[in-house]
Amino acid sequence: MVKDDCIFCKIANGQIPSATIYETTEFRAFLDVSPANRGHALIIPKQHFDNVFMLDDETAGKIFSVVPAIARAIQEETGCEGMNILQNNGAVAGQTVNHFHIHFVPRTKGDNVSVTWKQGEADKDDSVKLAQAIKNRL
Ligand code: AMP
Ligand code: ZN
Repeated sequence: MVKDDCIFCKIANGQIPSATIYETTEFRAFLDVSPANRGHALIIPKQHFDNVFMLDDETAGKIFSVVPAIARAIQEETGCEGMNILQNNGAVAGQTVNHFHIHFVPRTKGDNVSVTWKQGEADKDDSVKLAQAIKNRL
């Protein structure tokens, strides 16, 4: 499925140009137009899925299977010391483009990129109940 008003669907099919680093019939990876760091890239399925909640297992398996190779290629080329691989789902989680994508954010010591959060404290009783409740859904 392709969505008419989706910018990443247009990038996927080449209607909007992108600095592509990897492409198959099903996926495209390209450099982020507003990178957090040099080499910041995204990989998308060419089919439209709003977010991870909509993604099917087969597409998920395939897209995540190419993550290590892309990460290594970016690392080798940029010489980054580390990398954050992350993806956002829903506006509340920072998603701005509603077409599933995975970020590759190269990191170097002293850069100004921040993807951290203040650590909370788990309620032990709730954790036991919550873990079981989630497990029951899987
Ligand atoms: P997110 O906030 O997780 O939805 O990430 C969306 C990302 O897409 C942001 O990092 C944007 O800079 C990036 N982006 C938006 N439009 C384009 C574009 N035309 N080409 C490349 N990257 C884009
Ligand atoms: Zn799309």
